[in-house]
Amino acid sequence: MTESRTAIVTGAARGIGAATAQRLAADGHAVAVLDLDAAACAGTVEAITAAGGRAIAVGADVSDEASVAAAFETVVSELGAPTILVNNAGIIRDNLLFKMSTADWDAVMGVHLRGAFLMTKAAQKHMTEAGFGRIVNLSSTSALGNRGQANYSAAKAGIQGFTKTLAIELGRFGITANAIAPGFIQTDMTAATAERVGVPFDDFIAFSAKEIPVQRVGQPEDIAHTVSFLTSEGAGFVSGQVIYVAGGPKD
Ligand code: NAP
Repeated sequence: MTESRTAIVTGAARGIGAATAQRLAADGHAVAVLDLDAAACAGTVEAITAAGGRAIAVGADVSDEASVAAAFETVVSELGAPTILVNNAGIIRDNLLFKMSTADWDAVMGVHLRGAFLMTKAAQKHMTEAGFGRIVNLSSTSALGNRGQANYSAAKAGIQGFTKTLAIELGRFGITANAIAPGFIQTDMTAATAERVGVPFDDFIAFSAKEIPVQRVGQPEDIAHTVSFLTSEGAGFVSGQVIYVAGGPKD
């Protein structure tokens, strides 16, 4: 029987975050569905409560320290101390290096790296007090390098180093930290990439599927399933790992 805990999933209004929030709620946890706009979280919260789960919408910008502090106050008072954190919020600002603006570099670093840092620093206090914690950070196969994504690939490689260091520092408190590096997952983010390269999304999916060993693109539920495993009680000896969930080997 899984113990019911309080989980925070960032960027959970849609895509991978929404599927993950629903899966953690189905696993028996109370879930803070956090995204930039609280109103945008309504669909995820409704899906969870309709299925008999417990969730609240929390509006916050993970790259803003005051916003993160306010979000934790809300979560602690409404759901209790969080001991599961999924750092999933993300943006892309793709461009070839010579055209990439400093603002687009900073924006991507701000959400992925600064955001994961601020959220994890706030969460570890509650996890160390509880003597239990599960941190899952979203990396990407782009960490290995991807044309047009100098900012994003640097951030996603940074997430891997961050995760391994968390595992080393926090392990003694019963806390594990792991990263998931998804390949192509069918969400608004990959739809935006298709639009950038000028290919209809369906064609982009069909073309990408042919290149993937399992011959299909990923769905948000594929990532949610992996998060469910990594946050489970039984996964306490799995820490500091990067799991490529990409329909084939990627590293
Ligand atoms: P998505 O559909 O674009 O959803 C990302 C969510 O994060 C959006 O709801 C977005 O809100 C939110 N967000 C952005 N900036 C935020 C901030 N500062 N504070 C709080 N929330 C913020 O993306 P996805 O495809 O589900 O991706 C989820 C994660 O997986 C990301 O970290 C992404 O880099 C990673 N990933 C995705 C893929 C893929 O193929 N889709 C592959 C590898 C890794 P707004 O809508 O308001 O911007």
